[in-house]
Amino acid sequence: MPMSRTGVVYHDDYLKHETGEHPEQKERLIAIMKLLKETGALKKLTRIAPKKATTEQIGYVHDASYIENVRGLCQSGRGMLDSDTILSQDSYEVALLASGGVMSAVDVVIDDLNNAFALIRPPGHHAEASQGMGFCIFNNVAIAARYAQRQHKLKRILIVDWDVHHGNGTQHIFYDDASVLYFSIHQSPFYPGTGKTDEIGTGDGKGFTVNVPLPRGMGDAGYTYVFNEILIPIALEFRPELVLISAGQDAHFADPIGGMNVTAKGFDQLAGIVKSIANSTCEGRIVAALEGGYDLTALPYSVLSILNSFGDLGMDIKEPMATPKDELSGQVRERVKEVKEAQKECWPIS
Ligand SMILES: [Zn+2]
Repeated sequence: MPMSRTGVVYHDDYLKHETGEHPEQKERLIAIMKLLKETGALKKLTRIAPKKATTEQIGYVHDASYIENVRGLCQSGRGMLDSDTILSQDSYEVALLASGGVMSAVDVVIDDLNNAFALIRPPGHHAEASQGMGFCIFNNVAIAARYAQRQHKLKRILIVDWDVHHGNGTQHIFYDDASVLYFSIHQSPFYPGTGKTDEIGTGDGKGFTVNVPLPRGMGDAGYTYVFNEILIPIALEFRPELVLISAGQDAHFADPIGGMNVTAKGFDQLAGIVKSIANSTCEGRIVAALEGGYDLTALPYSVLSILNSFGDLGMDIKEPMATPKDELSGQVRERVKEVKEAQKECWPIS
């Protein structure tokens, strides 16, 4: 049987990051893997074994003193990075394996496969250079972007962050850097409070941060409109050599934290748009990394839908809950106008 062109990273050790009664719990990954097995999707995908990141690789984006602080807290048995970011005894090692898992996916996507989804935890996009927060310890996607540049000599990396929260950590790490284009669509106002349209980067990085904050309640029509109007033209002009996705599915309508109305089918469509960008610019190379998504039914169906798109699996996926009515809101059109105004000197999108 020919090897599938789509990979998944997974390891049982990702379950060892113990958070107790917490939305970011190991049951998320257990539920995803269960659905991938039950539907037969897993058999159609190439399994990728994650390697553990070294402290040097984590140090691409994080301060040595912060890395050491996390290690020490875990060694002591337990700790907190902020009021909702818990460390258990094994969290440091699991966090190394999470960042390493995204790097392993980068390796195979550059050498072998078309695309891959790293099913990892803890998530990463809130983690700042010297501070973990918002359930995130190390910034997995930011580390993988730097790794792709150093190890594989890639010049331009596009990060698409469709998690319902703004990825403050990723934005700040690359804020003055023109080699990594950070695009985020997120609910606003919402945690963590960053990601306004006028946050567009600084110095050489001006225009290489693109934020699309949307009011709550927006669904598939609004998300695909933003991708078509903003992401596609900018990404085609930027010409990435690799696309990374901060793939949090907490914009799903059933998510207990997010307030958006995206469906599993909508995530299939968003993945399809990113695929079309990658096909036009970088031989289809995409690595998605799991961020948020907290409903134990919605998250697995959303991940399955993304993999269905990535791998052209041809599955007819019906999520088991009634989907909300959806049409393009005037609020989205207004916000897109604002983004175009903020970015007009940097990109041909007016
Ligand atoms: Zn999130």
